[in-house]
Amino acid sequence: MLSETKKRKRGENKKARFYTSVCPKCFQLEILTAYHIYPPRFFGKGKHNSYRIRICENCQQEIEGLTPKKTKLTKEQYVELIKLWFKGEHPLIKLL
Ligand SMILES: [Zn+2]
Repeated sequence: MLSETKKRKRGENKKARFYTSVCPKCFQLEILTAYHIYPPRFFGKGKHNSYRIRICENCQQEIEGLTPKKTKLTKEQYVELIKLWFKGEHPLIKLL
């Protein structure tokens, strides 16, 4: 059984918005923040749009730059975009 303190600590960790770890994209030790797979500008924030990956600030800017600003893609396309980007391919060439 977990003590109340441990439970609380786990709860806090779960809620933590950022922490330092190795970025899964660039492999640098960085502060990682949650990045929405489905852009909040189209899908909003909150429970209904909770799929996120934790990557560093630089990588967030990179993927953001590769994501169409005004064109809304399908959810499947956003997932595909992230997958291609992780593989080191330029997502828009294959997607659009
Ligand atoms: Zn990174």
